[in-house]
Amino acid sequence: MKIQLTNTHGQLIYQDLVFFKSKSQIETQANKVECYVCGKGLEDEHSLTAKAQLGGTFLFCEKHYPKN
Ligand SMILES: [Zn+2]
Repeated sequence: MKIQLTNTHGQLIYQDLVFFKSKSQIETQANKVECYVCGKGLEDEHSLTAKAQLGGTFLFCEKHYPKN
């Protein structure tokens, strides 16, 4: 249950979007495509992975993605 956003050559690759159940959720996610911890975005040559946590779904870079 995750989404991967990769900025390879400036292109976004979306995977496993099925867990987004409503259009409003998609729009909310699209507004903030950056690491929840450090704020780095796709434009900073990072790959971001979304993880559902208590309180919502957050994006994390490869450094800050929760291991557990
Ligand atoms: Zn980060």
